[in-house]
Amino acid sequence: MFVDSHCHLDFPDLAANLPEILKRMKTNRVSQALCVSVNMPDWPNLLALVEQHPELWASVGVHPDYEDTTEPSVEDLVSKSSHPRVIAIGETGLDYFRLTGDLEWQRERFRTHIRAAKAAGLPLIIHTRSSAEDTLRIMREEKADEAGGVMHCFTESWEVAQAAIEMNFYISFSGIVTFKSATSLQEVAQKVRLDRLLIETDSPYLAPVPFRGKTNDPSLVVHVAEKIAELRGVSVKEIEEASTHNFFNLFNKINS
Ligand SMILES: [Zn+2]
Ligand SMILES: [Zn+2]
Repeated sequence: MFVDSHCHLDFPDLAANLPEILKRMKTNRVSQALCVSVNMPDWPNLLALVEQHPELWASVGVHPDYEDTTEPSVEDLVSKSSHPRVIAIGETGLDYFRLTGDLEWQRERFRTHIRAAKAAGLPLIIHTRSSAEDTLRIMREEKADEAGGVMHCFTESWEVAQAAIEMNFYISFSGIVTFKSATSLQEVAQKVRLDRLLIETDSPYLAPVPFRGKTNDPSLVVHVAEKIAELRGVSVKEIEEASTHNFFNLFNKINS
């Protein structure tokens, strides 16, 4: 079975078609999906969604692209994460691509999430865009290795991947790895240790080839696995088994 380690099924485009999406997941043998939180006002809805569907799990956190939104405290994140269906803290991190100006608030918010993950004993879901250097620096300063986690929708260099892996993090590939232009990312996907590799859709965005430009959903994660298998010259089954095993290893609250 495949697992989608990162999706946004609570977003309107996907939530409106949930029964069909869950059916397609079954057809494509995608057994579970992690629905990732992006802000606090929408979180109760996200939690309600995963409570209704045993194949779905939730995280709790505030995405760095949400500027004017409720700022979470460490205590708030820790207390929300104690819910049995919440298995990770995030998504958090830095994004210097979408937003510019004084982004100290982003870095402070990122530190809050790392502290919460360590206090809760849960892994982090980290988003980094045009900000790899600061992301790694704050991970080091806050000892994010004590929580571990995943660098989601990875698009950075092999050096950044190595640094993250050394800090106890997994590397998750999205549909971007199937894009023809993504040659340097494809090299990273060839090199990452099999026991550190995860796959995701980040749906509704970034549908993999041959669905590029369409609305993405967790059932399409199989195309990410197929592309990585092709790049590495191994069977799809090998990527399927490794990425699913890694998912349960990292988000081990599921097993408890
Ligand atoms: Zn993200
Ligand atoms: Zn996301």
